[in-house]
Amino acid sequence: MKCGRSEPAVQFAGLGQILDLARANSMWPLGFGLACCAMEMMAASVSRFDLDRFGMFFRPSPRQADLMIVAGTISKKMAPVIQMLWDQMPNPKWCLAMGNCAISGGPFEYEGQYAIVPGAHLIVPVDICVPGCPPRPEGLIQGLLALEDKITGGERKNLLRRFRRNGNKLS
Ligand code: SF4
Repeated sequence: MKCGRSEPAVQFAGLGQILDLARANSMWPLGFGLACCAMEMMAASVSRFDLDRFGMFFRPSPRQADLMIVAGTISKKMAPVIQMLWDQMPNPKWCLAMGNCAISGGPFEYEGQYAIVPGAHLIVPVDICVPGCPPRPEGLIQGLLALEDKITGGERKNLLRRFRRNGNKLS
């Protein structure tokens, strides 16, 4: 029956979109660090930058985490451990490579080096790269927001982010 409207009065988002919105706004990173970049990651989680306001809480177990932040130099000895932690994380899960070492080996990648893995992408599927040596906490937060956008399909669809940005008002 037509009611004279071109669009229905109430529209429902797909279940997948709602779940993606929930996932993007409550990411739980795995709490581990590999080298100096991890200090900046820790700084991002404490009071000055406060990752909690984005719904992000570091978890001590891979079984409770859905985000792996590879922060620091990846030695060949650590590579199988990182891979095991990734395998222990439940799906869906995401990976962020933080710093030049995690992206491409950084200053330790040179001809003849034998101890460093030149990039986290050689071990786990990387979704977002945050360059810098080290990146500042603001850079990490920008990378995390880009990851949120990747999960939800853009800021326009991330209602909770728009809500926060507009001083807790929906626009
Ligand atoms: S990118 Fe720079 S700051 Fe980060 S782990 Fe490598 S050397 Fe350290």
